[in-house]
Amino acid sequence: MPIDISDREVQSLTCPKCGGDYKRVVIFAMSDGDAYSVVSVVCHGHPHEEIWLDATFGSWEEPFGDHVTFSCRVSSAGAGLVDGPVASAGSASYFGRFLKREDALTHQRLSEFWEVVDLVVVEDPEVASVLK
Ligand SMILES: [Zn+2]
Repeated sequence: MPIDISDREVQSLTCPKCGGDYKRVVIFAMSDGDAYSVVSVVCHGHPHEEIWLDATFGSWEEPFGDHVTFSCRVSSAGAGLVDGPVASAGSASYFGRFLKREDALTHQRLSEFWEVVDLVVVEDPEVASVLK
């Protein structure tokens, strides 16, 4: 089933560490017309050719008891799971449980996470421009 990542918001931010300007992208991914995943991406890192990403999966039915959020860092050299969150403040209830790297590695939805990450790094213009 195709995933649609065209519904997105882009914020312009300034890094308090290095003073660099960067974008934060929030994507409301849909599948078959239903909410599928909310993805937050910080297009800035040290080094700068890196993005940090959180993606939430679940039923999208309140109170979001089955929701989990995966996190990873991506550079042109590859991607790796990390303890979350890395791209979100993390206070909204829809995030559910932030997975530690160890829990994410064996989670049943890990392949869906990597599918979304792959789509975002290839198709999202702000993200792709950092990793080119
Ligand atoms: Zn910085």
